[in-house]
Amino acid sequence: MKLFSDDMSFYKANFHCHTTESDGHVTPQACVDFYADAGYDILSITDHRSVTKVVSDRLLLIPGIEIDYILPGQWVHILGLNMDASIGEKWNRTGTPQEGIDLIRSLGGIAVLAHPAWSLNTPAFMRSLTGLSGVEIWNSVSTLPMNGDRAESTSLMDVTWASGGELLPVFANDDSHGYTFEAGVAATMVQAEEKSIPAVMSALRAGRFYATTGPEIRQIENRNNQEIVVQCSPAENVVFYSDCPWAERRCVIRRGITECSYSVGKNDHFVRVEVTDENGRKAWSAPIRVRE
Ligand SMILES: [Zn+2]
Ligand SMILES: [Zn+2]
Repeated sequence: MKLFSDDMSFYKANFHCHTTESDGHVTPQACVDFYADAGYDILSITDHRSVTKVVSDRLLLIPGIEIDYILPGQWVHILGLNMDASIGEKWNRTGTPQEGIDLIRSLGGIAVLAHPAWSLNTPAFMRSLTGLSGVEIWNSVSTLPMNGDRAESTSLMDVTWASGGELLPVFANDDSHGYTFEAGVAATMVQAEEKSIPAVMSALRAGRFYATTGPEIRQIENRNNQEIVVQCSPAENVVFYSDCPWAERRCVIRRGITECSYSVGKNDHFVRVEVTDENGRKAWSAPIRVRE
């Protein structure tokens, strides 16, 4: 089974950023112009706790929000995409994260868990959530010089998935605030039938996307849960991670890889692909179920 269609385009999206409507440093219009100039096709402004209204014909705007909770030992930030503006009033700040996810979905949106490594989310907490449509595997602002380096959530998600967590598709988002080092770094590449909100939401619900800070994943094929084949832009290494700590031939390392494969191990339940280019930039696939 191929994960991507051979005749649909990929659109470049950033589904997480902030403006002067919350704690971002640029106006909504300047934010839109920044991402349009940077070659993005789709943008969600996800200001904290309210939906920012902005109009542009330069790219497809999907209304968004970021809601937040503080729990003992961890914070929880959840993105709502394709949001009805009424969520600002309907959201109960003293409620639970699950109630927030349920509210987002009841208003026709999808919920994405933001930056779990930065938030110190625990695998047990993440396993308890239902109704998420994805998780941020990369969050550009969570790197140096801003508050340390917990941009990548891969290890944490591997532990969560290996211990029974739902295999969620992965987003790479900027979470832009200052529009300096972090903006224009990440992209979620969505394969949609057209550049419209219904088509993009349908692609997100179907998991037809991958996360990247540079390389392209062009196709991933799951051959009867026996072999995973990936096609990508020229890479320096491709690693097939799974829930089995050791796998022979997990790492493919050579110049200019554009296609390679992995034989699924007898103890693998999921496999995910990580592609790294010559500049150290990465692309991440969703975890693919290969065994119940
Ligand atoms: Zn956040
Ligand atoms: Zn944010």
